[in-house]
Amino acid sequence: MLLKDKITLVTGAGSGIGRAVANLFASEGAWVILLGRTQAKLEETSDQINAAGGRAVIAPLDLENGLDRIPELARALHERFGHLDVLVNNAGILGTLTPLENYESILWEQVFRINVTAPFFLTRELMPLLKKSPEASVINCSSSVAFKGRAFWGAYAATKAALVNMTETWAGEFSKRGVRFNTVNPGATATAMRAQAYPGEDPATLPAPQQVARVFLYLASHFSTDVRGQHLNARDWLTWHLQ
Ligand code: NAP
Repeated sequence: MLLKDKITLVTGAGSGIGRAVANLFASEGAWVILLGRTQAKLEETSDQINAAGGRAVIAPLDLENGLDRIPELARALHERFGHLDVLVNNAGILGTLTPLENYESILWEQVFRINVTAPFFLTRELMPLLKKSPEASVINCSSSVAFKGRAFWGAYAATKAALVNMTETWAGEFSKRGVRFNTVNPGATATAMRAQAYPGEDPATLPAPQQVARVFLYLASHFSTDVRGQHLNARDWLTWHLQ
């Protein structure tokens, strides 16, 4: 088991890639803290994990309006687990696909809050717990549009670029010791978000979240101990490592 008794936290664990990552981590022996907005979805993930003999706890938290509750979450995790080995900042929203000149200010700020501010606050507040782990790993979820802006992708593209940049800053501040920071670009994956962006697309033609989750497992495990400040592209990684 690659994550035996590791304490892991996955945001957006109630659906899509986050749910697949949570299930995979649990199947590899980890405790998984399931963080997300919709309690019923987290309970569904938790039921799946328990049914497979895994261990999970749910942490319902709205990463848009509930950021002030993160210190309370950190305290609760400290009391229950004492440390944190892996943090996956996966939760995100697409916003809307529209020309920048039409982009609504409120939506712009919402996308930044959930996609950038929340991963920053979570990482900062959970840092004391991460520092207590002998090999902590923080994995941030990027996107192809993080590396080159794309017309009509508005706030989403800008937030993913910011997340990549912030990951590099964290990695630079922890360059050779302790916590590792990397990003994963899942690439096109059959989830609700992808369907929102490409409503006419047949999801059967896309990789499933379960496939993409393998890259997150690699970055969470000791097999990536020396991988720091890297941006892994799931499609490339899976091609080279698993086929
Ligand atoms: P998804 O199924 O829509 O999952 C997004 C998750 O984020 C949901 O579980 C959602 O919870 C959670 N979330 C959204 N707003 C939240 C909030 N305010 N507070 C707490 N949780 C919140 O989409 P996905 O494709 O799996 O996306 C996962 C990550 O992959 C995202 O960062 C996305 O940008 C990235 N990504 C996806 C693709 C792709 O093709 N699918 C490609 C590149 C990057 P609720 O459902 O409860 O709101």
